[in-house]
Amino acid sequence: MASTFNINKPGKHFYDLSAVAGEVAGIQGDVLCCINQGEGPTVLLCAGIHGDEYEPQTVLRHLAETLETEQVIGRLIIIPAINYAAAQSGARVSPADGQNMNRVFPGKADGTPTERLAAFITREIFPATDLLIDAHTGGNDVNVVPMIFGFSSDECVVSDPELTRIMEAWGYRYIQHVTGIDSTICGAALAAGIASVEIEGGGGCLRSEELSTIHDGLLRALAALGVLQPLVEPQPFTGLHLSAGPEAQLVAPQMGVVEHKVNLGDSVTKGDVVALLYPLAGKASAPRELTAPVSGVVLRQARNAYLKEGQLVMNLGVIVG
Ligand SMILES: [Zn+2]
Repeated sequence: MASTFNINKPGKHFYDLSAVAGEVAGIQGDVLCCINQGEGPTVLLCAGIHGDEYEPQTVLRHLAETLETEQVIGRLIIIPAINYAAAQSGARVSPADGQNMNRVFPGKADGTPTERLAAFITREIFPATDLLIDAHTGGNDVNVVPMIFGFSSDECVVSDPELTRIMEAWGYRYIQHVTGIDSTICGAALAAGIASVEIEGGGGCLRSEELSTIHDGLLRALAALGVLQPLVEPQPFTGLHLSAGPEAQLVAPQMGVVEHKVNLGDSVTKGDVVALLYPLAGKASAPRELTAPVSGVVLRQARNAYLKEGQLVMNLGVIVG
């Protein structure tokens, strides 16, 4: 990749990520698309850091194929599935090294395949990037409401108010304000002075509505930044700004199977019984009542009934502003 990848080449070009990480566990590679036209911001669109989160990968692959150079003002770099070996294996992590890609940034150029792919992004793409959009979904373990997170600092080219405007343009109901983890792609971007947006695009089941929300939201956000011609109608923001710290997480106090008493997107009050945890052995059958640790909106819930001690039951978002 280093010898052929040219981020400054005008027009639309595809490259092969296998030049960075090689054939991984028998999986050959995947594409990176770079569309470059005229003066304007550079945006990196990245999906598939967790291989089993398929909605944004599907949308980004579609955009890489269909967006035309003339529609771009500046530069769009589209990576549909950065963790390609994980994606093609139906797994969250790479079969080659088992590493969570969103905990290896900034990566290592001479490391494992997962670390090499991370290092390629931070070394080859970040220096040219004004805004990172990192797209996730619930994957195999949790269901999530579609939501969007923003990360910026005073050093970023894209200012905090501009980032808020971009997030509100997306059209998601929930905007979450968080502090990043350094070893994530968004954390590494912030350390490099690059603003970023992370989305959780839905439940991991490829529902048509969630796919079109990611597609249209992405096009609105890119148009709001000015890197893409407007291709879909703008939508006024009618959603909520939320914070979701550790105090808003509810985890299983012991092993058991969980019954959810509330749904994603529901508003709950601190102390409400939001889930029941049933025992898996013994004469007693009564479930243990689990209560909301704070008042807020249900953002994530465990997808599977069986939970180990300490596994996430749900997390809540607290309304801010
Ligand atoms: Zn993810």
